[in-house]
Amino acid sequence: MDRDFFYITTAIDYVNAAPHIGHALEKVEADALARFFRQRGKKVFFLTGTDEHGSKIAAKAEELGISPQELVDRNAARFKQLLSAYNISNDDFIRTSDRQKHWPGAQKLWRQLAENGDLVKDKYRGLYCIGCEAFITEKELVDGNCPHHKKPPQVIEEENYFFNFGKYKQAVIEKIENDELLVMPLSRKHEILNILKEAQDRVSFSRPKDKLDWGIPVPDDDSQVMYVWVDALSNYITALGYADEGELFVNFWQKGYVTHVIGKDILRFHAAIWPAMLIAAGVRLPDRIFTHGFITSEGQKMSKSLGNVVDPFAIVEKYGTDPVRYYLLREIPAGDDGDFSHKRFVEVYTAELANGIGNLVSRTSNMIATYLEGKISLQRGSDFNWERIEEYTANLQFDRALQEIQVIIDETNKMIDEVKPWQKWKSGQADDQEEVRELLQRVGGVILDLAFYLKPFIPQTAEEIESIFTSIPIVKAKPLFPRLNE
Ligand SMILES: [Zn+2]
Repeated sequence: MDRDFFYITTAIDYVNAAPHIGHALEKVEADALARFFRQRGKKVFFLTGTDEHGSKIAAKAEELGISPQELVDRNAARFKQLLSAYNISNDDFIRTSDRQKHWPGAQKLWRQLAENGDLVKDKYRGLYCIGCEAFITEKELVDGNCPHHKKPPQVIEEENYFFNFGKYKQAVIEKIENDELLVMPLSRKHEILNILKEAQDRVSFSRPKDKLDWGIPVPDDDSQVMYVWVDALSNYITALGYADEGELFVNFWQKGYVTHVIGKDILRFHAAIWPAMLIAAGVRLPDRIFTHGFITSEGQKMSKSLGNVVDPFAIVEKYGTDPVRYYLLREIPAGDDGDFSHKRFVEVYTAELANGIGNLVSRTSNMIATYLEGKISLQRGSDFNWERIEEYTANLQFDRALQEIQVIIDETNKMIDEVKPWQKWKSGQADDQEEVRELLQRVGGVILDLAFYLKPFIPQTAEEIESIFTSIPIVKAKPLFPRLNE
């Protein structure tokens, strides 16, 4: 972590459906990390975007009687709205249908692989699930059906370019084993190493243009369109200007510290195919891949038929951006599956936001305003174990970081309860009042520290707290987290 440049990416979201809460979780995780590094004076480039090609998009557009480009423009806008709803601080937004920004880099990457002799045209016969937009193997079928879509795959026979994955497999395994490419959490590292050892040596990298028209043309071969690998995974470098290896690419990819934040379902693409492509093209690998799990709703898998789909826009409208960010980062265990339930949301909100930091800010500002006429100058630098919170946050263990922060909030509230400043001040004794002044000085300092460490997670609230306690005079704060009417 001693580098100056930090590059943070989310996966690019496939625009064939509306954003769901899993998308929101991933953005918020990447955002917390980006804000954390910016706060520490690092240069950060934070990228998110949309994956816009594929036959599913083409088919849907045809059904709606519009062009694929119109469809993806419409749907990508919804993902941009998600970013603003969750106060995401991304520096750029890449779209794979962007012919100026994305295509030249994707085609350059393709050419690098082809020049290496790592892309070979051959006949392909395989099973293809349109729902997955992917080839699947006999072994993966359940009763002859795709396990995800419960439908039989199509048998496809066609000419494809194949990537010689086998040539790079061992190198990828070694880099993951020795953490040069750090796969987090550890359970996912073991999982991907097992997958890699079993992986096939050839991977289909293109589709015939008559089967898939909506995509990036293969350079120097009009009959073929790139399949998702080069088309989508390359976004991480095309967005930085890989095509002409400009300053962003040099600083953030070649010299920077690169973190990919992704969902567990796409780990194998990011930790197997992507690094193999990069090694083949002579481009350095990302430093780490953090995988998050899935979110259930009220303890069950979300599904339209159960009517339990959590709308990421509706919950922010109902509860506010920072409380939902807080819940996602605090309640969904880092790197693991978690649950969203309204009951649990209200519990966490009430215990940790309203009665925790909210109450601390409200009572402390009130006492400073009442007893000291708001006149006190506060400084950061309390002697809690902030180091550990620092480490947890840098390693994307946000749930643990927030748990530590919560302990400090509780201890500080307890400190006030023990001194009982409201009684001491009333006594009118000079030494009692001096004790109250010292307590408020100390508590105010802790609050400024808390605001600093909470800022990556709940940025608006943290800024509000800072502004309350650095104003002269300090006035009684309005409740940061009003009671929820449930
Ligand atoms: Zn499927």
